[in-house]
Amino acid sequence: MENITASELAGFGVGTLLLCATIAAPKVDAFISASQRSSLGMCKRCGDLRMIPCTRCKGVGSVKGGLFNFGFVDDIFQQFGGSGMKGKSISCTQCQARGHMPCPICSNLP
Ligand SMILES: [Zn+2]
Ligand SMILES: [Zn+2]
Repeated sequence: MENITASELAGFGVGTLLLCATIAAPKVDAFISASQRSSLGMCKRCGDLRMIPCTRCKGVGSVKGGLFNFGFVDDIFQQFGGSGMKGKSISCTQCQARGHMPCPICSNLP
């Protein structure tokens, strides 16, 4: 019979945890990093960057089109050569074209 030491058992456990973390969705990874940040005393939302990427323009600072912000539709219009009115980038109004917004958690701090 093989002798399984405690350290081998621990290694097996850690390996299993790592495997689970790898398989699991990025949501879990984000949750783990968030808990790590909070345990380090960092902001769990932005990691002490004091800003978060804009959710509307994805950090680009501008959004395509006017009322409709669907990349799928934009692609179709561009494929048909409709680059005249469509495909025009406008400044993101949510972040004032900066691409990021103040962290809602940090900005509440005095
Ligand atoms: Zn934005
Ligand atoms: Zn923050």
